[in-house]
Amino acid sequence: MPLGLYISVPFCRSKCSYCNFASDVFSSSIFQRYIDRVCADIFRSAEISEEMGGVSDRAIDSVYLGGGTPTVLDIAELQRLFVTISQNFDVQPGSEITVECAPGTLTPALLDLLPRCGVNRVSLGAQSFIDQESRSVCPTSACTCSRSMKIPASAAN
Ligand code: SF4
Repeated sequence: MPLGLYISVPFCRSKCSYCNFASDVFSSSIFQRYIDRVCADIFRSAEISEEMGGVSDRAIDSVYLGGGTPTVLDIAELQRLFVTISQNFDVQPGSEITVECAPGTLTPALLDLLPRCGVNRVSLGAQSFIDQESRSVCPTSACTCSRSMKIPASAAN
């Protein structure tokens, strides 16, 4: 039976006041070290499973990049993560591949990259579409949610 792969990226632009997830604000210099470690663990995942008495199937039918806010990573780091996944697992055709995004982090370069990495679903977290409410829980990022989420004209028809 194919596996589902979940990878946490525990970095955020700011820490929301209500959030209990294992995530926080870190310097971007930490991101590279984290990705290095995650990629090393993916590379060794079969061996690690065996050491823990399990069997790791190489076939996967879903990938979920959660957090945190995975889209605070730079393009090269995200790309490296997806390349490492595809080189070490057998991603089945039709797999659901999701990235959690904060609306204000969706740049044109990122929107170009994600489909090329096989991403076919984004999960957008918007605390509120009322700016005043968003600012009260997330003063530096979510307050832009209602302004930054734009539906392309072609998708709105
Ligand atoms: S963006 Fe999400 S994960 Fe990050 S602090 Fe806010 S609620 Fe928590």
